Amino acid sequence: MTETVDTVVIGAGVVGLAVARELTLAGHEVIVLERHGLIGSEVSSRNSEVIHAGIYYDSAWLKTRLAVEGKALLYDYCASHGVAHDRIGKLIVACDEAQLARLDGILAQGRRNGVTDLRLIGRDEARELEPNVACVGAILSPSSGIIDAHGLMLALQGDAESHGAMVAFNAPVTGGRVVDGGIEICVGGAEPMDLRARQVVIAAALGAQDVADAIDGYPVTRIPPIHKIKGNYFNIAGRAPFNHLIYPVPVPGGLGTHATLDLGGQVKFGPDVDWDAEPDFSVDPARAEEFYGAIRSYYPDLADGALQPDYAGVRPKLSGKGEPAVDFCIQGPKDHGIAGLVALFGIESPGLTSSLAIARHTARLLP
Ligand SMILES: Cc1cc2nc3c(=O)[nH]c(=O)nc-3n(C[C@H](O)[C@H](O)[C@H](O)COP(=O)(O)OP(=O)(O)OC[C@H]3O[C@@H](n4cnc5c(N)ncnc54)[C@H](O)[C@@H]3O)c2cc1C
Repeated sequence: MTETVDTVVIGAGVVGLAVARELTLAGHEVIVLERHGLIGSEVSSRNSEVIHAGIYYDSAWLKTRLAVEGKALLYDYCASHGVAHDRIGKLIVACDEAQLARLDGILAQGRRNGVTDLRLIGRDEARELEPNVACVGAILSPSSGIIDAHGLMLALQGDAESHGAMVAFNAPVTGGRVVDGGIEICVGGAEPMDLRARQVVIAAALGAQDVADAIDGYPVTRIPPIHKIKGNYFNIAGRAPFNHLIYPVPVPGGLGTHATLDLGGQVKFGPDVDWDAEPDFSVDPARAEEFYGAIRSYYPDLADGALQPDYAGVRPKLSGKGEPAVDFCIQGPKDHGIAGLVALFGIESPGLTSSLAIARHTARLLP
């Protein structure tokens, strides 16, 4: 049996839910298809829950524009929809003279990106703000913050549903085909069915490439390769020894083993970039060894035995080990030639921060 709907969004993570909300508010009839039995159980539930400022990326990138725009939209949305968040600010710390020289480049990049409130601070001011952090200088980013990611997704789902959207759970997309006037989507699970939609958005993160590949008519040469790269977290018991987010200078593939506070006042460290691991959610306690070294470069008082394995997330990266970082890849009709289809690939960090701006951008690519 083939049902007809206006718009299908594949994936009920933070991005799919934001897209569903955006399109529903614009008057579309939207069904979200999610392969699991609950929202946001893949990438969106295993991240740092940081609202990023938009500092590090190339100014010409879409990622940069969506991060800076998304941050502003997100703070407004959290305030108006009662989503728990805190603009606690962040320090990017230099632990030696060589790293201090790198701060100038990071500061200049951030300013080029439109992050206008960044400030270079010296050792004394950094120590005043964070007595437990050892550094020779830092960048203060006042607009960085933390957010309850699940609370955000619930608010987006609620918003979308109250305007008529429907989220179908245990509804894995197994295939599809481009047809006259739209796209047919095959849904598996206990009640398999075909849906014929005028518009489809692939917001399936770790599954995005598989979904695009399974749609007959999607040009396979346009589908970027995916690298599922694990990031592990460790925590320490008790109240956080910091008041701000504490980041070292970035490392290849990630932002360095940073300290993130949660809204309950606890600290976690990570994620690292575990290039060679299986992309599962286990944390190997042996990785603590590397964490001690990385964290003690800025938090020398970290006690032996204090780190406990916490959780792991998996990044839907488009670049592999040793390759340069790349932009988000958002393909609309001009890229793949299929009217009414938008595919989102490589929505790794700062995808949570950018989610509302990604949704706006996606809506603009649709008729
Ligand atoms: C370790 C880590 C730390 C991060 N930290 C931050 C941070 O601090 N700040 C920030 O801004 N960003 C951060 N990010 C990035 C952010 O978490 C992601 O960009 C964002 O959550 C992606 O959302 P999504 O909706 O695209 O993905 P997901 O939440 O994975 O949603 C995709 C959904 O699609 C579903 N799906 C997949 N295939 C199918 C199919 N065939 N049929 C039906 N459904 C399907 C999945 O089940 C899933 O629910 C981090 C990411 C990682 C991995």
